[in-house]
Amino acid sequence: MSTSLSALTIRQLRSDLKTGHISPVDIVNDVIDSIKNKDSEVGAYLSINSEDAIKRAQNADISKPLGGIPISIKDLINVEGQPCSCGSKILKDSYISTYDATVIKRLKEAGAIPLGRVNMDEFAMGSSTENSGIQITKNPWDLKRIPGGSSGGSAASVANDTAIASLGSDTGGSIRQPASFCGTVGLKPSYGRVSRYGLVAFASSLDQIGPITKTSEDAAIILNAIAGKDQLDSTSLDSEVPNYLQSLDMNIKGLRIGMPKEYFTDGINSEVLSCIHKGIEKLRELGAEIVDISLPHTEFAVSTYYIIATAEASANLARFDAVRYGNRTTDPTNIIEHYRKSRAEGFGEEVKRRIILGTYVLSSGYNDAYYVKAQKVRTLIRNDFTNAFEKVDAIVSPTAPTAAFKIGEMSNNPLQMYLADIFTIAANLAGICGISTPCGFIEGDTGNKLPVGLQILGPALQEATILKISDAFEKSTDWHKKKPLD
Ligand code: GLN
Repeated sequence: MSTSLSALTIRQLRSDLKTGHISPVDIVNDVIDSIKNKDSEVGAYLSINSEDAIKRAQNADISKPLGGIPISIKDLINVEGQPCSCGSKILKDSYISTYDATVIKRLKEAGAIPLGRVNMDEFAMGSSTENSGIQITKNPWDLKRIPGGSSGGSAASVANDTAIASLGSDTGGSIRQPASFCGTVGLKPSYGRVSRYGLVAFASSLDQIGPITKTSEDAAIILNAIAGKDQLDSTSLDSEVPNYLQSLDMNIKGLRIGMPKEYFTDGINSEVLSCIHKGIEKLRELGAEIVDISLPHTEFAVSTYYIIATAEASANLARFDAVRYGNRTTDPTNIIEHYRKSRAEGFGEEVKRRIILGTYVLSSGYNDAYYVKAQKVRTLIRNDFTNAFEKVDAIVSPTAPTAAFKIGEMSNNPLQMYLADIFTIAANLAGICGISTPCGFIEGDTGNKLPVGLQILGPALQEATILKISDAFEKSTDWHKKKPLD
């Protein structure tokens, strides 16, 4: 088992920093070495900013909650002076951020050090990171498999111990699903809990930034730093931010946790299902009361999401016109050809598919039939959760119906790929929070262990509840401690 600093959690590093055993420079150097030694076969990183990170480490204030802790950043969150390609050829090598996203500003204020940009599906569209226009990222547990997506680089870097923690984004599952596939913890905060200023928008009514970490404790530490109202994002909520770390008291006795019958149907890999059932038994042992519930409109979540998300994406991606930023085609004969060719050359297939779909569902004559209808169904899905949370404090389910699939296995079948998010998407439509925590392994065909994630969903702004449950679960199991090379 690796004993390098990059294998430790934020909590562990902080106590070693306090005793003076290690310094922030030791940590940053160790993570940089680990990237050099181990990232070439996984391919999580697109770039690292070693010099700046070492400088920050030299000046780090370890009395701050994240003082001296390096964090990898999904390549669609702006960090001043660093490239931001969104995993797309249209921005690769041509865009350097001119400002810090609010989450980065807050992380820096808390003492953290942004170290490197990690890969993702282009503009966060996908579930495997295979849609990256830049490189393939592999799952550290089995290099023939995908790490999940779209925050695949974030999850792979944390699992491979080439990052202490990472920031990802979740529009339909992109933090929780890769966290599940890589054996890490992934938290999607409620809509409005974390500012999205400086996050390149995919679907603005669904996007949220959140942490991918080695433990729920670490997720709580990061959420403490990034949550809260931001004048620069009018959708951020002006609601008090509790101390998430303090809410981890291990006491889940008497909490009511719902098992939605619609999430436990055919189509889930049977070994995955058995890990989930064992995980739920553990929660029962810890004192939670497991309650059967129903979320009757679940079956419409995927189709509703793919109308709303594509509609919003088609509008958000209109800004990539290769005039203000992005790669330009060479020698267009007129302005229309400039737009057409620059976008055709710059965007990948999935992004084009979504823009076309989104434009179609918004077009006159189809708007009512698709977009407006989808918004109505979204309300029904949201109401399902509101009703359920009158009876229970949280909801438990698989994070994904399978473990990590093979590279290339689904890339020619977009519809099948869309189903990888069947259990995560509804939370985004409803604006609630969710976390995925490791709850077991299944065996892949080459004998490799493949991680399975347990999803815990909570009402809007109740991150403290789901973190408390996942933390209690982690402290009485050791799935999250396992490493790919054990
Ligand atoms: N996989 C989903 C999609 O392709 C969700 C992506 C995300 O959460 N960014 O849209």
